[in-house]
Amino acid sequence: MIKFLDLKAINDSFEPELSDAVKCVLDAGWYLQGKETKSFEMEYSQYIGTKHSIGVANGLDALRLILKAYIEMGLMNEGDEIIVPGNTFIASILAISDNRLKPVLIEPDLNTYNIDPIKIEEQITDRTKGIMLVHLYGQNAMHPEIQRITEKYNLKLIEDNAQAIGAIYRERRTGAIGHVSGHSFYPGKNLGCLGDGGAVTTNDDELATIIRALANYGSKVKYVSEFQGLNSRLDEIQAAVLRVKLKRLDTDNIRRRQIAQYYCDNISNPDVILPVKKNYFQLSNFDNQLSHVWHLFVIRHKLRDKLQSYLTGNGVQTLIHYPIPPHKQIAYRNLNSLKMPITEQIHNEVLSLPISPVMTDAEVMKVVELINNGF
Ligand SMILES: *Cc1c(COP(=O)(O)O)cnc(C)c1O
Repeated sequence: MIKFLDLKAINDSFEPELSDAVKCVLDAGWYLQGKETKSFEMEYSQYIGTKHSIGVANGLDALRLILKAYIEMGLMNEGDEIIVPGNTFIASILAISDNRLKPVLIEPDLNTYNIDPIKIEEQITDRTKGIMLVHLYGQNAMHPEIQRITEKYNLKLIEDNAQAIGAIYRERRTGAIGHVSGHSFYPGKNLGCLGDGGAVTTNDDELATIIRALANYGSKVKYVSEFQGLNSRLDEIQAAVLRVKLKRLDTDNIRRRQIAQYYCDNISNPDVILPVKKNYFQLSNFDNQLSHVWHLFVIRHKLRDKLQSYLTGNGVQTLIHYPIPPHKQIAYRNLNSLKMPITEQIHNEVLSLPISPVMTDAEVMKVVELINNGF
């Protein structure tokens, strides 16, 4: 069977360094807020290209903490509006509503599945305080129009970089484009740890200080509470694991890109809609080479469910990202009446094919052959 994502094989490919790193933490006997976390934070901020990186418990917390910090700073208030794509994983929206801010959902561009930059300005009101820019499926979502709007209306640009770690936009990594960014190290992400983990990156000194305190009960100094914070920390074992895996991230992302290119060049079934090729595959330009890090390889088909059953029946595991749009979720009854036809079409038609650094050429060819010849 061709697995959608073989996490065991991925992590085995880092041995023996991975086990050595875990053993090192066990030998040190120090589990939280130690030297592994500190070193990872330094290495990660260097990689992303920001002044600060703060390890937190997961990607959702990273986004929640960012907005909570802006509220503590007096830059956002209950009921203020945050622009967010309608086509995203629910966590992008949970982070907003959890802080009693109002998510304002925008339709995606059907060519990129990311937020449609030309549909943002019409939704801006005097309560709009920020844009949550999600780099969905691993593809940079930044666009000159978003830069213009952010400056014109003095908005905070918050990146949700959970799916796009390593992606590049105009010589900068995603996660270093906006004012601040949330990252996830969930095992299945491009940079995954062995459990939950996340980070916030920013160049803003004050914001970084407040987020670090908020993630540690609201204290800068032990037992002195400045804010009503939470407990959201990256632990030493996960930090040690991430230090090993970060070193190979660009290489792993380039392998993902090769697979994506093979899919794009060889899937010829006329009913399959492939990701729209822009300059993702121009090897000469480093900027373009990683403008998409292919966290997911998403195709569309009018008979998506049938295609999925056919592939499952032939030993190829696929997933749907995502089956129910956020505005149709029970948890967001208040959004259920929104009309978002493009978002809904995407949710009805998308299918994610297997892609990962450990997938073999033979497996990739098998998937292509099945899609072209059998369905
Ligand atoms: C995974 C993900 C998150 C949340 O990250 P966790 O570490 O699972 O909490 C947020 N946004 C997007 C787009 C994601 O894919």
